[in-house]
Amino acid sequence: MPKKLLQMSLKIHHTVLERFLKYVAVDTQSDPESDTYPSTEKQKNLGKILVGELLEMGISDAQMDEYGYVYASLPSNSEKKVPVICFCSHMDTSPDCSGKEVKAIIHKNYDGSEIVLPDDASQILKPEDHPDLKEQIGNGIITASGTTLLGADNKAGLAGIMDAAHYLMNHPEVKHGTIKILFTPDEEIGRGVDKVDMKKLDADFGYTVDGEKLGSLEDETFSADAVTITVHGVSTHPGFAKGKLESAMKIASEILASLPNDRLSPETTEKKEGFIHPVSMNGIVEKASIQFIIRDFTDEALLEHEAVLRNCMEKVLENYPGSAAEFEVKEQYRNMKKVLDQHPQIVAYAVEAIRRTGVQPLQSSIRGGTDGSRLSYMGLPCPNIFAGEHAFHSKQEWVSVQDMEKAAETIIHLCRIWEEKA
Ligand SMILES: [Zn+2]
Repeated sequence: MPKKLLQMSLKIHHTVLERFLKYVAVDTQSDPESDTYPSTEKQKNLGKILVGELLEMGISDAQMDEYGYVYASLPSNSEKKVPVICFCSHMDTSPDCSGKEVKAIIHKNYDGSEIVLPDDASQILKPEDHPDLKEQIGNGIITASGTTLLGADNKAGLAGIMDAAHYLMNHPEVKHGTIKILFTPDEEIGRGVDKVDMKKLDADFGYTVDGEKLGSLEDETFSADAVTITVHGVSTHPGFAKGKLESAMKIASEILASLPNDRLSPETTEKKEGFIHPVSMNGIVEKASIQFIIRDFTDEALLEHEAVLRNCMEKVLENYPGSAAEFEVKEQYRNMKKVLDQHPQIVAYAVEAIRRTGVQPLQSSIRGGTDGSRLSYMGLPCPNIFAGEHAFHSKQEWVSVQDMEKAAETIIHLCRIWEEKA
């Protein structure tokens, strides 16, 4: 390893961990029931800390807006015209698991055995359940204490970006274009980019730093629609209902029961296969509705799945002449690959940056969406690079210090590569 790179690693080693421990101590759980922005005011507590640290680094335009978004820019130090690159992570943690009073524990020099979490001995990280642990022998593993999540999703990303920013501010000899930082609230409840000010952000391309395994790079997500079927039945007095009553609830259940049960569901699909998934249902005799999410990697496949569902609905309704149903489709997000393919350098440079850290890049697709999928369609093409977070949204969440360091190094290399290639 060249001397300069070695120094870089040592420096990162010292600070990325400290930053991470500071951020996970702040409760930033978001709340899907809330209709305020941010959904929980406490997310701003972390935003304030981040702004304070950015200002301390000398990034003078760092600020948080009324919705809890943190914006900052590192000025270009290059004579070249370099595209403006944004790095983005989210500050909130999942509502699925408590994030209050997180006690982070560092398991130094991990030896490959089970990790029992001290505040709840039933919470055991077993290498067979967490296969990536086997690649972490000798590393420092950070977990929570057994009663909360850790919050590595996505505070590992925050720490990586902050540390890279700190490095760049202290190493003017590393050339880069204008670098933008964006920290968002409410990603976990699907509102992470609702209030992003794209004009203020003013970036050409971006990277979310919210990926799992060391070296992973995700440039493809699901395309997603929501479908609501509303059934209007025929209600009569049950004592005089013979031949007249058509229960909307029963019709809705029949529609669900008529869905294929060997394919097209989350429980029967993997990899590149899509699905139709009912997520909630409610009703009375007169009216019932079912909410579905539809997922696949292409828009064409989404349309096919919606046709399957509509077909099920229409077939069932044939037996209920007095009833009717509505089929309403709402677009949720689209596969980012379509946008990224128009700018192949975004992914190519990320592959190169990961390689320069000595790690093998792992390019893959996500069976889900990211803030990046929406940002990509809002004019900021934005794949997802690893932050090192594992088993997120659970009490067994973990991250390694070394993976976070590699994430920070990857960001620094990315800044460099965009300048080199400009
Ligand atoms: Zn996340």
